[in-house]
Amino acid sequence: MARTHIHGFPRIGAHRELKFAQESFWRGESDDAYLRGVAKELRARHWEQQRAAKLDFVTVGDFAYYDQMLNLTALLGALPERFEFEPAALSLAQYYELARGNKAQPALEMTKWFDTNYHYLVPELGPETTFNGGVEWFFDEVDEALALNHTVKPVLIGPITYLWLSKSHVAGFDRLSLLPRLVIRYMRILETLQQRGIEWVQLDEPALCLDLEGEWLEAFAAVYEVLGASDVKILLATYFDTAADHAPLVAKLPVHGVHIDLVRAPQQLDVWHRALPVDRVLSAGVIDGRNIWRADLGKIVGSLQQFHAERGDRLWIAPSCSLLHVPISLAAEKRLDADLKSWLAFATEKLDEIGTIALALRDPAAAAPALAAAANALDARRSSRAVQNVLVQRKVAAVTDAMASRKSPFKDRSRVQRHSLKLPLLPTTTIGSFPQTPAIRQARAAYKRGELRALDYLERMRAETASVLRKQEELGLDVLVHGEVERNDLVEFFAEKLWGYALTENGWVQNYGAQCVKPPIIYGDIYRPEPMIVDAACYAQSLTDRLIKGVLTGPVTMLEWSFVRDDQPRSTTALQLALVMRDEVNDLEKAGIRIIQIDEPAFREGLPLRKSDWAVYLDWAARAFRISSSGVSDATQIHTHMCYSEFNDILPSIAALDADVITIETSRSSMELLDGFGAFSYPNGIGPGVYDTHSPRVPSVETMQRLLERACEVIPAERLWVNPDCGLKTRAWPETEAALSNMILAAKALRQKIEAERSSAVELV
Ligand code: GLN
Ligand code: ZN
Repeated sequence: MARTHIHGFPRIGAHRELKFAQESFWRGESDDAYLRGVAKELRARHWEQQRAAKLDFVTVGDFAYYDQMLNLTALLGALPERFEFEPAALSLAQYYELARGNKAQPALEMTKWFDTNYHYLVPELGPETTFNGGVEWFFDEVDEALALNHTVKPVLIGPITYLWLSKSHVAGFDRLSLLPRLVIRYMRILETLQQRGIEWVQLDEPALCLDLEGEWLEAFAAVYEVLGASDVKILLATYFDTAADHAPLVAKLPVHGVHIDLVRAPQQLDVWHRALPVDRVLSAGVIDGRNIWRADLGKIVGSLQQFHAERGDRLWIAPSCSLLHVPISLAAEKRLDADLKSWLAFATEKLDEIGTIALALRDPAAAAPALAAAANALDARRSSRAVQNVLVQRKVAAVTDAMASRKSPFKDRSRVQRHSLKLPLLPTTTIGSFPQTPAIRQARAAYKRGELRALDYLERMRAETASVLRKQEELGLDVLVHGEVERNDLVEFFAEKLWGYALTENGWVQNYGAQCVKPPIIYGDIYRPEPMIVDAACYAQSLTDRLIKGVLTGPVTMLEWSFVRDDQPRSTTALQLALVMRDEVNDLEKAGIRIIQIDEPAFREGLPLRKSDWAVYLDWAARAFRISSSGVSDATQIHTHMCYSEFNDILPSIAALDADVITIETSRSSMELLDGFGAFSYPNGIGPGVYDTHSPRVPSVETMQRLLERACEVIPAERLWVNPDCGLKTRAWPETEAALSNMILAAKALRQKIEAERSSAVELV
């Protein structure tokens, strides 16, 4: 009969215990022993939950004090030399220095884990890197679980994925040359597990779902030829996309089982079943580890019956990937609408779903009540009036191609805008948010708790807006913003105001380290009952003669940073979001706001893992943006903003957004990005960020002027804007004023220089 397991459970704890313990450790308010105690308690609790759900294994190795990749780096002993730490004696304090930096050394680089919003710490490897072993926390955890009488299946990230995700700062260094050393260490790890009587180990190789090149695939085969000789059975886990193209290769390797993601790529089940001999385990990832919807259990059971008949206990049932990406339990949701709640499954509820599927395959009668309950919930969801909104559906049906393009091409619009906006050469602006002072946060919290009346809250926010505006005028910025004082988060703020969106109380998901996010849930058609930021923007405009730029979040980012519906394509949800944002943009224009910025920091994040799927995504995503931005007249200037990523590989799609101006993060890559924009001849206006807003450092006038001069070599000054990299919400006021003041001086100096050159050129003629 089918066996059951998971890849990993969220480690933060139902009440974010791990986060609070970490933070208290960092503040020096508690010691090693306390943090270790909290961690141990959490692990024991999560294993117990897996046992209570009658899973055949509990998963060990999914815990990390900060990040699973960093844990592996610590286990392998592959610490960067620059820290001068003794790998086998790494303390928790030193572990956190690797994660967060110390006085002498910056932290390891952090980046997104595949196409999720989780961030991992990038291993830093070079010719000198050794894998002689480090701390043994992983084995301690295995022992802990064994002592609690669990059937333990340890999990580790596999060697190919580890190397693939690592970086080297040594030019020309081939990371694959480290493979022989790395494999020896993995062999030692497997031996150590075998000595503990472990039967199965799971090695995660999500890299197999990427476009792996030839030598990486060869390396993959070579590694598993070696590791397969171990006495511990290996379950090779792939997830986040299809790995079907590698089925013939994997079937030849001496691994005992393969896990595949059947939520993202259901079509690969047949391929794998045929390729993989029946004496091997096929682990079917049928429960969505990336989303929060209750599964269609009947349908899943139906799709597995034949495979179960042929494979028996060599068919395993699992979530598609680690449950790290979903909140822990619905039990913590007291205020969620009861209907909606009955449609959801967080990590804890997903454990039960897995048990139910296995039961239904073994004993259909015993599972019948649970299957019926799931079917009822699904029926209720399908026919719910909260999900379907005819007003939205009518609007979607009426969308035309014309709605996805501005009335005139950029050249004509820019002429109109130059006349009406009368901005100087190299106009200066900011990205939207200004420092969120404790007073602002306190007022928001008090309002949420019901301790501050709506009118009092509004007055406080208006007072803050007025003060932010005064500061911007004093600094001498050309285009002002209202400061986003009332916004906690750029997605949640709008989600609260839109129908079809729900917010959870405790639906926390680890973003990185101690940082958690609470993505809102899109459950129904998206409808805007009333304007969202028009009042705030107009209030700001009433206080100043300068231009106010209205700032809102774009459809693609709203989609990317939410849990989305699984009952319609993402592109359809994006279109609904685009339509509400379009109405908001149009209302802003009607109210007299002449510059409107539609933020899309997550635009690149939506890219599929496989390049062959990129075009389809880029097409609907760019169209959603254009629908949101194209309802306005030529005279209204549309900006967009992007950050966090590299953009050079999607420049044609960024140009296809046809924003009049894009402000974009560049300063951390010392404007490398700009070369891409230059080489591609980006046609519209662009504001390359001239300083990093993620750091309190205040760059000098000269530094910023030099960056701008470089930018001028690539983009004509007529199309160049001057702004920081990103919002200023996490900064303090003193550094913000100092940096902006220098930025404005740099812009003015260059402006004068260019104008002087031009007038002398005219004299020469
Ligand atoms: N307008 C937002 C801000 O300034 C943009 C945030 C972002 O790009 N992440 O905070
Ligand atoms: Zn940004």
